[in-house]
Amino acid sequence: MSYDGSENIKTLNGVGPARAAAFAKLGVKTVDDLLRFYPRAYEDRGNIRQLMESTDGEKTALCLTVATSPKKALIRRGMSLLKFRAYDDSATAEITYFNQDYLADKIRIGETYRFYGRIERKKTASGKDVFSLSSPVCEPIRESVYELPPLVPIYPLTEGLTQSTVSRTVHEALSLYSTSLSADIIPREVLVANELCPASSAMKNIHAPTSMTALEAAKKRLIFEEFFLFALGLSLGRTSREDKGASICSENDISDLIALLPYKLTGAQSRAIEEISRDMAREVPMHRILVGDVGCGKTICAAAAMLIAVKSGKQAALMVPTEILANQHFCDLEPLFSKLGIKVKLLTGSCSASQKKAIYASISEKAPEKRTDIVIGTHALISEGVCFSDLGLVVTDEQHRFGVRQREALSEKGSHTHTLVMSATPIPRSLALTLYGDLDLSLIDELPPGRQRVDTFAVDEAYRTRLNAFIQKITDDGGQVYVVCPAIEEKEEEDDALSEGEIDIRNIGMLTLFDTKKETPPLKSAVKYTSELKDIFPDKKIAFVHGKMKAAEKDAVMEAFSSGEIDVLVSTTVIEVGVNVPRASLMIVENAERFGLSQLHQLRGRVGRGTRKSYCVLVSESKGESARKRLETMKTTYDGFTIAEKDLAIRGPGDFLGTLGANGIRQSGELRFRLADMCNDTELLKSAFRCARELISSDGDLSEHPETRKAVENMFKTEALS
Ligand code: ADP
Ligand code: MG
Repeated sequence: MSYDGSENIKTLNGVGPARAAAFAKLGVKTVDDLLRFYPRAYEDRGNIRQLMESTDGEKTALCLTVATSPKKALIRRGMSLLKFRAYDDSATAEITYFNQDYLADKIRIGETYRFYGRIERKKTASGKDVFSLSSPVCEPIRESVYELPPLVPIYPLTEGLTQSTVSRTVHEALSLYSTSLSADIIPREVLVANELCPASSAMKNIHAPTSMTALEAAKKRLIFEEFFLFALGLSLGRTSREDKGASICSENDISDLIALLPYKLTGAQSRAIEEISRDMAREVPMHRILVGDVGCGKTICAAAAMLIAVKSGKQAALMVPTEILANQHFCDLEPLFSKLGIKVKLLTGSCSASQKKAIYASISEKAPEKRTDIVIGTHALISEGVCFSDLGLVVTDEQHRFGVRQREALSEKGSHTHTLVMSATPIPRSLALTLYGDLDLSLIDELPPGRQRVDTFAVDEAYRTRLNAFIQKITDDGGQVYVVCPAIEEKEEEDDALSEGEIDIRNIGMLTLFDTKKETPPLKSAVKYTSELKDIFPDKKIAFVHGKMKAAEKDAVMEAFSSGEIDVLVSTTVIEVGVNVPRASLMIVENAERFGLSQLHQLRGRVGRGTRKSYCVLVSESKGESARKRLETMKTTYDGFTIAEKDLAIRGPGDFLGTLGANGIRQSGELRFRLADMCNDTELLKSAFRCARELISSDGDLSEHPETRKAVENMFKTEALS
């Protein structure tokens, strides 16, 4: 049988329907899935210590020779004991097993074994060291301890699977894999240039590393591969786009729009608009991302772009992730555009069927003087019925809430459309590259003058009574309050914490090891807290909104808050997206240690949008150093870009991505990085992108690299339109 990786894992020895079902829960269905099911950590059994070097209570690997024959004893019914002594050059230890009688025949006097377990080291009254081990892992050594695997993989598990089952099945898959003859998906010259090991060696060593060095090499290669395939996928899309001739939108006089504004554009806004209008005047479709801190005024830049499109005889569409944002943009922009004789329509899921029909008709209308020029809306914009007469520009706001596919689906409503995406998350250039593909970047690094500073405090539970009094005062004065809780219910996060002695796969090859002992104050439950608040403030209107609610329900609550019907809104982070509620003047973040700086900054940006003096209170019981540092930073730093940089520096990578919506991308299946970390692995990321560009420039459609092309398609095929 020839192997190609797409075989169901049931073809492997020992995998029946029940195991296959358990594996499926972990997303493993094919042999290839299993090979890509990497360990989450490794037990370090290769670091052999002498007994005298060991520390009490620590997991330790030892090479010990058995000195006494194992003695069995029945402690009580159903509980037996096996005891013997074993020694190395430095000392002797007593080893005990419970209920493992079968070992009695396996353990032989005079033979040497590798033991791995928690050591107990005590001193007798006379000052002698006494060592003991309870139920350690025991592996016979034939000739040398170096024959034994130094690093033993630990896989994520689910009910119905044990470590040894997963390991055994992975080994089956590996031996099948070693019979495959397909070419490496990374071209040879790329492997050589980047000092990467071949696929076969990487695959073997990620699951069964022969040494730490081999494991590091395997991980490096697999990370590179993920970036490389991803970059190729993006470039493939891009070259096909570059081919298209876009409509030239060169009517770029926007002074009439600017004249209607009650303010002057900031320098950064003018620069961004200039970059946009230069792009739009070209034949190559614009693919630009506009990044700027919350409140820096991106909307008007989008409006300028749409005006240029309309003046050049085209239609424009603005897509936003929620109805409430769509409403807000419509209310802000429609009055401006109507003064310029431009027709704007709002299209959301809550438009009635007849309204939709009328809007569809006005969008597809051929006569320019009758048709809708600009449509503002939600996902409703990409529904089938929407058919533009001549769409020239697509803008997506809060872009991280959308997938690449959704953006493209809208662009495909026109031919050769210019694309502008906007994001409120300030991000380093290299990350922008990965997250947003090969987009050109415009930065707005300046806030409009006279913005109020949101006073920020970091407090703990001791402050609770005063905090409640503060909520009372703010709401009595007609202000509104946001309360953000990271969890809907208590204990909703699974704990994937490492056991001691394990090395997290994320730390393999890292110069600095991150703190693996996570300190985790209990989560405040939004449900429970809402009812507590209702008890404390019986005369206030308190509502709760969370991410698992239906979109319409969420929007209804947000709408009510926005119109002032609700005094206190408890929510999970759903409110992160750019909603504007001018009366909201207090933001309380519970379990603030759970949030990244950039995320906290986003949340803080929800208040201080009107004239009311506004405050942000970060509540945390955390004593952890990184959390404390983050909260301190929030008190003193107000600039989004500085905060983004500090976020990277303090927290290291990882969570930072959550802020960028990369988690959302992962969940939507668009970006399936298993090992790669866009923040940590920036050097590999850059070289992978460079190599991908070079490959594409010589083999534009990868027809000369069929294996590579297939792998790219596999990576992108899971992308779903939600
Ligand atoms: P964001 O970049 O977060 O989308 P908005 O476009 O919503 O920001 O702008 C936030 C607020 O700032 C709006 O009320 C807008 O009218 C105002 N604004 C935008 N540009 C300026 C400016 N140059 N001077 C003063 N106010 C501005
Ligand atoms: Mg905005």
